[in-house]
Amino acid sequence: MHFEDFELDPRLLRVLDTKGIETPTMIQREAIPALFEGRDMVAVAQTGTGKTLAYALPALMRLAEGRVQRNMMLVLAPTRELAQQVHGVIAELGKAVGIRCAAVYGGTGFGPQIDALKKGVGIVVATPGRLLDHMRRGNARFDDLMILVLDEADRMLDMGFLPDIKSIIRKLPEQRQTVMCSATFPREIARLSEEFLREPQRIEVGQIAKPVDAVRQMLYPVHPERKLGLLKTMLREKNVDSAMIFLRTKPRTERVAKALRKDGFKVQAIHGDRSQRQRNEALAGFRSGKYRFLVATDVAARGLDIQAVSHVINYDIPENPDDYIHRIGRTARASAEGDAVTFVTPADMLPLEAIERALGKNLPRADWEGAVPVISLYQPPGVQTGRKRRGITHRRRRGRLLG
Ligand code: AMP
Repeated sequence: MHFEDFELDPRLLRVLDTKGIETPTMIQREAIPALFEGRDMVAVAQTGTGKTLAYALPALMRLAEGRVQRNMMLVLAPTRELAQQVHGVIAELGKAVGIRCAAVYGGTGFGPQIDALKKGVGIVVATPGRLLDHMRRGNARFDDLMILVLDEADRMLDMGFLPDIKSIIRKLPEQRQTVMCSATFPREIARLSEEFLREPQRIEVGQIAKPVDAVRQMLYPVHPERKLGLLKTMLREKNVDSAMIFLRTKPRTERVAKALRKDGFKVQAIHGDRSQRQRNEALAGFRSGKYRFLVATDVAARGLDIQAVSHVINYDIPENPDDYIHRIGRTARASAEGDAVTFVTPADMLPLEAIERALGKNLPRADWEGAVPVISLYQPPGVQTGRKRRGITHRRRRGRLLG
C-alpha cells in the first residue's frame, strides 16, 4: 500500500515524498480513511507508530476542502517538546496546503503567542495549562473548531491536566470531530473517551502497553555505586551510536551529564529545571548529532520523536511499567531496530517485577563481571525454572535469583 491510495492531496504527497515516507504504517492505514470521514477515534498507540501523521493528514485534507477559518483544529499535548514536535509536522504539511499552525506552550513569553492567536491560524497545537490561560484572557476562541486531538492523553492525565482539559473542552463547539491518542488505556482514559467522544472507532496498534517488538531488551544487574562506571564502559565499548539515558530525578540527571562531559562524552541534559532555550538547544544538538548522548528525566523526554537513537539506557529503572514502555519507545522508531538497556540494583525488586509482569516475560540479564544478585518475583505462566517439585519449584517460591 502507498499513501497515494488514500487519494491524498498531491501537495501533501509531495511533502511526504521529500521525507521518504511512502508506505503507511498500520495505524495510518486504519485511521486515515475513518478520520477523513469525520468519525471520532480512540487510538491506543505509542509514539513511533506514526500516529501524528495518522491524525494530521486526514485533518489537513478535511480543513483544506473548505474555507479555512480561524482556529479550526486544536491539538492538546502534555509537554512543550511534544507540542513543538507536532507543530513541526503539521506546520510543514499545512504550509503546502495554505493552512497555518501555531504552537502555544508555557515557559516562553505570551506576546508572540497572542499575536498568532489573535491574527488567527488554522491549527493550534498547545499544552493545556498555557492554552487555558490564553482562553481565560480572551486571546483565543474556538467557535469554528472542527477537530480536537488529545495527544498522549494518558500522559496528560498523569501530569494532572484533567481539570484544564475539561475546562478547555467545555468551551469548544459540541459539533466536532474528536481524536484521542494514548499509549495505554487505563480506566480514566476510558471515562474521558465516554464523556467527550461520540461512538469513537477504536484502533489499537500492537497490544496495549506492549513495547514494539523490534526493541532488544536487556537488564544489567549492578550495584548502585557502579552504575556510572558501567555506563561509561558501555558508551565506550559497545556499539552505542546515540543514546537517550533516563534518570529518576533532575539533580541525578545533571550529575551524570556533568560526569560524562568531564570524560569527554558529547552529552547534553534535558529536564524540567532547564530553560526552554536550553532544552531546545539540547534537542536540536542531539538531533543534528552535535551531542551523541541525551540524559533526561521522564517528564522532559516523554513523546519526543528522535529518530536516530540506537540505544535507550535506563540508568534508573522506571517506577512503573508505563514509563518503561514510553522510555524504550524512544528507540526502534518506525521500523528501525534498537536496544534498550536497564540497570537494575538489588533494591529495584518491585519495579522490576511490575515491568516484567506487564511484559508477560522475564527480561534477559547480562552476565557481566560486576553483576550483583537481583531478585525478580515474577514468573511468567507456564515457565518453569529449577528442579520440579509437584509443579512448583523451590526457586519459584523464593523468587528467581538473577545475575
Ligand atoms: P510518531 O509516532 O507520529 O511520533 O512518528 C514517529 C516517526 O515515524 C516520525 O519521525 C515520523 O516521521 C515517522 N513516520 C511516520 N509515518 C511514517 C511512515 N509511514 N513511514 C516511515 N516513517 C514514518
